Amino acid sequence: MQGLNVITPRQNSENASRSPIGDRKRRVREVRIGAVTIGGDYPVAIQSMTLTDTRDAAATLEQIHRLEEAGCEIIRVAVPDDEAAAALPAIKRGMSMPLVADIHFHYKLALKAIDAGVDKIRINPGNLGGEERAKVVTRAAREAGIPMRVGVNSGSLEKDLIDKYGGPTPQGMVESALRHIRFLEDEGFENIVLSLKASNVPRMIEAYTLMREQCDYPLHLGVTEAGPPSTGIIKSAMGIGFLLANGIGETLRVSLTADPVEEVRVGWEILKALGLRSRGPNLVACPSCGRCEVDLIDLTTRVEKAIAGLKKPLHIAVMGCVVNGPGEAREADLAVVGGKNKGLLMKSGKIIATLAEEDLIPALLEECEKFDVSDRPHGTPKLIASA
Ligand code: SF4
Repeated sequence: MQGLNVITPRQNSENASRSPIGDRKRRVREVRIGAVTIGGDYPVAIQSMTLTDTRDAAATLEQIHRLEEAGCEIIRVAVPDDEAAAALPAIKRGMSMPLVADIHFHYKLALKAIDAGVDKIRINPGNLGGEERAKVVTRAAREAGIPMRVGVNSGSLEKDLIDKYGGPTPQGMVESALRHIRFLEDEGFENIVLSLKASNVPRMIEAYTLMREQCDYPLHLGVTEAGPPSTGIIKSAMGIGFLLANGIGETLRVSLTADPVEEVRVGWEILKALGLRSRGPNLVACPSCGRCEVDLIDLTTRVEKAIAGLKKPLHIAVMGCVVNGPGEAREADLAVVGGKNKGLLMKSGKIIATLAEEDLIPALLEECEKFDVSDRPHGTPKLIASA
């Protein structure tokens, strides 16, 4: 396939050697989803899901391309009916990242999606209309050589498990996943990814943690129905971030009631904050205080916009005053430090210019262009893992 950003395992092992954050609790199997591999020493992959009507291939592709540009690495589309399944070949032809078909209830749609050449299917073997139908889908996936994600969701846990555990508990979710794993393994199918999503963050954390102790299949992390960005970002960062920091999780989807581009952006910020991967600049800014002599919120917003398109993994700081600013910006590759109608531009901890406020951002961008990240005087800043 053309134009794919194939991620190598080496990138992840380089990062892992720098920090105990994210160290694997146990070896996880590798699963290949098109050109992206998860598990093993591969880095955590970011995925999202389209919001468009899958039957409209052109609109779906337009959204997929925007998501790819934002850094999405695996994309899932809902396949609710025959017309959506019929659009899959055109969607697949028009894109380069791996395509996942999301199937519920209709085993024939799963077969059509596999025929269309999707790279993975997301199913729940328990809702495909009986064991025989689930076996047919499993056989077709095996013959096509594609993985299946078993998606356990606390909101749709089997009734007997809810009765047994007195509600949709983490233990019940794990037992449901183990049932599905046993079914697939009995069919000779081990190309499996698992998810155990809940909207309740502690429940989701416990479910994934228990699951990791029970099996070595890659885990797809997510807080389901996390809500709008104002709350959904926090829930996702807490749930997904906690698990990743503890070495659990091989791929993630941030679920937000928002443009899915925002899901991808937040996913990257979680990985960047933990130092697990890097993509573009990492911006830090002081919160401002009574010493600040510049409109720091405005300055930081303008810097954020100005550096948004940069690809280099630069560590950039925006500080509000010259009292603590230069010291706090010492670890940054580049920093702007606000002052009364003027500011400082810093590079690798040293002041390189004092400029009028309106000249700060253009000068910062010029230095961003020139900065060679492989030539940092003090090595990689501790907040950034190498790309
Ligand atoms: Fe306050 Fe200056 Fe520290 Fe910003 S850098 S929080 S303005 S003391």
